Amino acid sequence: MTKPRPVAAACAALILLFSLSACRKNAAPTESDGFVMGSFFSVKVYGGDEGLGREILTDAGRLESLISVTRTDSDISRLIENGTGTPDKETAALLRRSVDLGKDTCGALDVTLGAVPALWGFSGEEPRLPAEADLKAALATAGLDNVVFSGDTVTLKNGAKPDLGAVGKGAALDAAAAALKSQKVSAVVSFGGSVLVFGQKPGGGPWTVGVRDPKGDEASYFATLSFALQADEAVFVSTSGSYEKTFTENGKTYHHILDPKTGYPVENDLVSVTAVASDGFLSDALSTALFVLGPGDRADALCKKYLTGAVFVYKDGTVSVTDGLADAFSLTEDAPYRLRQPEAAA
Ligand code: ADP
Ligand code: MG
Repeated sequence: MTKPRPVAAACAALILLFSLSACRKNAAPTESDGFVMGSFFSVKVYGGDEGLGREILTDAGRLESLISVTRTDSDISRLIENGTGTPDKETAALLRRSVDLGKDTCGALDVTLGAVPALWGFSGEEPRLPAEADLKAALATAGLDNVVFSGDTVTLKNGAKPDLGAVGKGAALDAAAAALKSQKVSAVVSFGGSVLVFGQKPGGGPWTVGVRDPKGDEASYFATLSFALQADEAVFVSTSGSYEKTFTENGKTYHHILDPKTGYPVENDLVSVTAVASDGFLSDALSTALFVLGPGDRADALCKKYLTGAVFVYKDGTVSVTDGLADAFSLTEDAPYRLRQPEAAA
């Protein structure tokens, strides 16, 4: 019997492999894809209305038009421009939720950091090492208390520039799950490094999601996570990795996950964190936050409070998996990684 292939985070090729095997005995899914928030977005819906996938894609584009920092006419850009305003309810709610969660991560997730990633230029064609003085000035504008909510009005203090890049894909996947609910469908929605699996897997058995191999290309995975879901149940898997957006200058490689304390890319033992939750915003936000924090008591507390669990991949080729995912997790046969011994794991 052919082993079911996993759905890979951030990988269209593997999703396609998955769908070929998964639908052997089932009707082929309706597939829609596009490029949203700078990332590949793909929807596969098994059953239901033909147009559902398109609707989900359009909705993700709508969210992008609200929160994009590269579009001058977005809600967020207008807010930054004017310093105050009444953004769309969805923009305000996402900003508020991000700020609140950021406080609970002790600032490891800081969506007010926007001036800093803008200086690094990671969302553009030419990322570069900023001058130290510029970085200091940009960092001085950040602070979770610099976003003030009063009724429908949002005010930015101190020149803070919100950037919802660390949470936007997860929020779009939440919207996708809401659209899929009660439609009697199953679906896989993949958006950059985040994946939503929804409903019962066609043909039975658990869904299998590949965990991206940080050393490999976009199509490679070193481990799988399995989830047996009921109708209308959703699992969100999000990976943040230092391999995702990088550039090298003067022999040093820089990546896009920034330490809010310094403004520089996080430097710790990690190469990636995968966060699993029943909520897309939380899995996306916390994959970033856990990367910044690194494993330890704070990460454990966040996992317990918000996540099903997390997978940490370290520079030395070891992997740790929190208890909540121990049963779902398997290394692939030839994975160049090994599990950390419990006493060595944080
Ligand atoms: P990706 O965008 O590759 O999915 P993440 O979800 O980890 O990766 O988000 C990284 C993006 O979030 C960066 O490109 C930057 O815009 C922003 N960012 C970087 N570091 C932080 C941080 N510590 N807190 C909040 N946002 C951050
Ligand atoms: Mg994230």
